[in-house]
Amino acid sequence: MPTQYAIDCFAENYFDARDKFLAACAPLPGQLKSLRQPVAHYENRPLFTDVFRLGSEQAEKVLIVISGTHGVEGFCGSAAQINWLRQQTVPDNDIALLFIHALNPYGFAHLRRVNEDNIDLNRNFIDFTKVPVNEGYRQLASVLLPPQWTESCNREALMTLANYAEQHGRRQTEEAVSGGQYQYADGLFYGGSKPSWSRRNIETLIQDYHLSKRGAVVVIDIHSGLGPYGYGELISDHPPLSPAALRARRWFGDSVTEPALGTSTSVLKQGLLDYAWHDALGDRGCCLTLEFGTYAVDEMFRVLREENYFRQQFFREGIASESLQNARQRLRDYFFPDKEDWKEMVLFRSCQVMRQALAGLKSKPSAHDMR
Ligand SMILES: [Zn+2]
Repeated sequence: MPTQYAIDCFAENYFDARDKFLAACAPLPGQLKSLRQPVAHYENRPLFTDVFRLGSEQAEKVLIVISGTHGVEGFCGSAAQINWLRQQTVPDNDIALLFIHALNPYGFAHLRRVNEDNIDLNRNFIDFTKVPVNEGYRQLASVLLPPQWTESCNREALMTLANYAEQHGRRQTEEAVSGGQYQYADGLFYGGSKPSWSRRNIETLIQDYHLSKRGAVVVIDIHSGLGPYGYGELISDHPPLSPAALRARRWFGDSVTEPALGTSTSVLKQGLLDYAWHDALGDRGCCLTLEFGTYAVDEMFRVLREENYFRQQFFREGIASESLQNARQRLRDYFFPDKEDWKEMVLFRSCQVMRQALAGLKSKPSAHDMR
């Protein structure tokens, strides 16, 4: 059972999380690389993605654990990483662990899901010579970012979303809103117009750590905000029945869900970070999202719309209003329930998943794993 000490793995803010992460890495054998965000900062303080390799550089197998792909969701992923590092368990010689802390440090520090360019990193991994068009988002864009934040604008937004859901179904509505869009740079779930700084970091890491050449690699990308409160859903976006999808089920059991089969709380999405790993790993591993539930999806859309409205107003007018402060707090509370029961569930499940990943990597290849 996690102890009071373990609960202390959770940080108050990005800087606190970084301090705890670096302190947990310090006594361990390995290598730390700190990647400084070249343009963004927080009140003139620099921001970093920190990458710590625990274990041998030559290890045949690698477990990668990522936090903060969605900025503010970094509270849970960071705590899971710190909790594991504090156990100070050095893996066997043929396995290394790679901890990527705060992949989107701007979002973590500023309490946004998105990065310094309003980009949702988990929609940014597309081929930008073939940008998709999200027709559903186009129909809903004017209520997702309304001209004013008033009672009547909100009522109109709710009615429009309800009408859309009645016409197209609930799942299609979620796909329209959150599946990813590339036409509204100030909107929600915007995938960007080119590869972001964080995407380029992932691509460089894949090369620098020779991750395409290792014997087996598992990637766990930790998020929060979808699904039942405190439950850690393991989501596979590998093509159903592909070797990687089947391996995920063998190694992690029946709790693995698949959006493509409709078994996940997540809908199908464009430009996921997963797709970079799918290309890099081929059949030599699997990449899963570990998604910790918080509150209802309708509430998520509300807090995201509100925060984005006041944030865009701030970008235009330069005034950090009280409304923006309140919206930031509500967004933080949504994605990071600062409650002991939720934190215990995060620590328990993330330990379980990492243990399963290491056991899978250690296991003898089955007939299914032969290439
Ligand atoms: Zn997320």
